[in-house]
Amino acid sequence: MNKQTGNNTVERSPVIVIMGHIDHGKSTLLDHIRKTNIVDKEAGGITQKISAYEVKHEGKDGKIHRITFLDTPGHEAFQTMRIRGADVADIAVLVVSAEDGVKPQTLEALKSILKAEIPYIVAINKVDKPGADIERTKQSLAENEIYVEGYGGSIPWVAISAKTGQGVPELLDMMLLVAEMEELQGNPKTSASGVIVEANTDPKKGVAATLIIKEGTLKTGMTVVAEESMAPTRIMEDFMGRKIKEATFSSPIQIIGWNFMPKVGAKFISFDSKKEAEAYMEEKRSSQKKSPSKDTIQETNEESVTIPIILKTDAQGTIEAIEHELKKLTTEKVIPKIIHSGTGTITEADVKSAGSNTKTLIIGFNVKVDSQAKDVAERMLLEVKTFDIIYKLGEWLAEVCKERTPKKFVEEVTGRAKVLKTFSRTKDKQVIGGRVEMGTFTVGMDVRIIRREAMIGMGKIKELQQQKNKTGKVEEGSEFGCLIQSPIETAPGDKLELISLIEK
Ligand code: GDP
Repeated sequence: MNKQTGNNTVERSPVIVIMGHIDHGKSTLLDHIRKTNIVDKEAGGITQKISAYEVKHEGKDGKIHRITFLDTPGHEAFQTMRIRGADVADIAVLVVSAEDGVKPQTLEALKSILKAEIPYIVAINKVDKPGADIERTKQSLAENEIYVEGYGGSIPWVAISAKTGQGVPELLDMMLLVAEMEELQGNPKTSASGVIVEANTDPKKGVAATLIIKEGTLKTGMTVVAEESMAPTRIMEDFMGRKIKEATFSSPIQIIGWNFMPKVGAKFISFDSKKEAEAYMEEKRSSQKKSPSKDTIQETNEESVTIPIILKTDAQGTIEAIEHELKKLTTEKVIPKIIHSGTGTITEADVKSAGSNTKTLIIGFNVKVDSQAKDVAERMLLEVKTFDIIYKLGEWLAEVCKERTPKKFVEEVTGRAKVLKTFSRTKDKQVIGGRVEMGTFTVGMDVRIIRREAMIGMGKIKELQQQKNKTGKVEEGSEFGCLIQSPIETAPGDKLELISLIEK
């Protein structure tokens, strides 16, 4: 936990992860908190853009405190981060339905919480339902060695209804209380570091990533580095998608304009200038080349994805044949791996051996799937496939392996034009004259607007003209007239760049 000493440290708001068995109400709880606690006038009508959000809640001390929530489906992202050793969440909330009590994924969730060594609160949910029984739920928890306060232990718990909101303010109070006991602190004066919690490519914006700052302050003009990926903090948004100039700990933010897609769970650090960031990366690279340390080996491992497989067949010999197929599909980047195998019908127990990993494939060869297994698989969002021809199985698996191979996207400038003149501008449209210096410009393309080597915004080419005639494209070396749509006003001397995302 981020305990710090020194003069500049101040209280840091907690980052919360909500975990528990499927259908016990995690999403409902996250939705309820989001709806009732984001009390920001400016935010009216704007929806959350990224998979984390921040709320304000008045604590028992009468002060307003901030709380950050990781809004990820299930606890998969949390698991990924743990695997990568990133401590993103400070406190976990283990949601348990008061109707059902402890279920397999409750225990899975508990296991990862205990591994992460973070404190947790039990939220006994669905207390509004007629079948809810808080006492029985506590008993079910105790049977699984989760001893809550007043029931032989010290784990804080709150009875809630994520649906009606009953008990949710008390749960938020409890989060603040636990945070206070943890003495979470941060230093706003130092440069920011934290964890990447989400990354994606937006055809318009480029590579975007959601970060949670765990320490320090991030300002525009800095550069962030997450392993091999780097981005300037030129386009920085809060979780509502509003442009911001500065952010500090525990805030979830989005940064757009990465050179490579950063990995979820990667830690990031920040530098005052691009030069310093590049120097750091260069040094890291060369030191890794010199000594293939444990770190480097781990890096390579992190490039790969394991596909867990549960395999049931009609005969032991078939298992071996399929194992052989899997070996053929194994590459540096994907490793299909049998985690459980046997002969006979696919049963509920087989499906449950997938744990909470929805990426697990359940494959049957010349066997049936019993109806309970089907139901459970459906509820656990697991894919069950049966085959009676080995090469079909092989073909299908090859396809899955291809889909799951980690991809790297690299942004490349594939076209550039110089703005020579600018004419009228109405609302967000502007007529400009320019010359294509590289590549081909076509109607409908999105361009980056660059001024003095810095990207100042995006624009869309609505119309193109050459010698006063409308045209669909303009080739390298030609002058053109263009109607560009952009919230940014372009000026002579600006460059327009076409960016393509190239899969590598
Ligand atoms: P998750 O899989 O843990 O994210 O569970 P969901 O939030 O999707 O909830 C599963 C179902 O339970 C949904 O139909 C919810 O409407 C319902 N649900 C969740 N919380 C409550 C609650 O407190 N009371 C009632 N009555 N229903 C709830």
